[in-house]
Amino acid sequence: MTSLDDLPIRDDLRGLTPYGAPQLDVPVRLNVNENAYRVPEAVALDIVQEIARALPDANRYPDREFDALRRAFADYLGHGLEPAQLWAGNGSNEVLQHVLQAFGGPGRSLLSFTPTYSMYPLLAQGVGMRWVPVPRAADFTISPDAVRAAIAEHDPDVVFLCSPNNPTGTAIGLDVVEAAAEAARGIVLVDEAYAEFAHDRSQTALSLLDRYPRLLVSRTMSKAFAFAGIRVGYLAAHPAVVDALRLVRLPYHLSAITQAAAVAALRHSDEMLSRVDELRTQRDRIVDELTAMGFDPYPSDANFVLVGGVADPQATFRALLDRGILVRDVGLPHTLRITAGTRAETSALLAAMAELGAE
Ligand code: PMP
Repeated sequence: MTSLDDLPIRDDLRGLTPYGAPQLDVPVRLNVNENAYRVPEAVALDIVQEIARALPDANRYPDREFDALRRAFADYLGHGLEPAQLWAGNGSNEVLQHVLQAFGGPGRSLLSFTPTYSMYPLLAQGVGMRWVPVPRAADFTISPDAVRAAIAEHDPDVVFLCSPNNPTGTAIGLDVVEAAAEAARGIVLVDEAYAEFAHDRSQTALSLLDRYPRLLVSRTMSKAFAFAGIRVGYLAAHPAVVDALRLVRLPYHLSAITQAAAVAALRHSDEMLSRVDELRTQRDRIVDELTAMGFDPYPSDANFVLVGGVADPQATFRALLDRGILVRDVGLPHTLRITAGTRAETSALLAAMAELGAE
């Protein structure tokens, strides 16, 4: 029987494991930072109608430039952005891949501050880049000085700053982004997948874009817009950066159905963001109540909390799973990462944690 090892696979892919959290069908799924709320029925209906309008033309390739969608993203983000500054892909993972295909590749390096999003090293690997992990401070913050020192030491071609950071929830100040943009000779990308969940939404790197042509900001509809299943991520940057990304995308990479669905959903951003507010409330509730129970949650600006002070994460993971609750063990000692759920899901999680106790 042929196994992967028997195939003439690239040497640098041998022995690697694919990205993947367990996909288990349990009542309370708090493991992959999804939006806990389903797409509201009225919004779903509008999306279906937009798709229905697009469908008879499905014999034609879709708009390769996805003009309507880029206009909708520019309007949603504000900050004076023009459609020519917007790019999109099938999830922000694909957008990040486009960035590395255009600005990274063999002989080049990607620097990030760890622990951070586990896809970065895999995306670097996929395009044959060197991955340079630089540890964060013990509380998972990054200072402007630390950024300047890391960039001076490693001279990376691309820097990914994740804010709010997955899996720690840590937001970085704009002074940190400025320090990176000024120190780096290459591309600096701020991954703002969780930006809408931040305590202070005004602290976005979008506000720095006109000052730094090599600064890129990526976002996703997977989290705030409850669109993880549709696969839409996007990026804002200088129009010349967008021209570079066109060189590496596959032709017609965004289907007409995806474009129609995203344009329709963006019309309902106010309603979608009101659910984000409820999730922020649950996120803060997890931090407050677990602190009172003796756990040690890290401050979070995302829709999840990294909970420290867990004596035996694997045992707690299993005990929660026995109660129908799925969380994530990201491999950081004495921690579990828990996504904010609906009020009822969060109550179930907190009741189970109270029962299990901090020690
Ligand atoms: N960036 C970060 C920090 C993430 O946590 C995720 C999803 N877990 C992504 C990007 C990618 O999300 P998507 O491809 O669904 O947009």
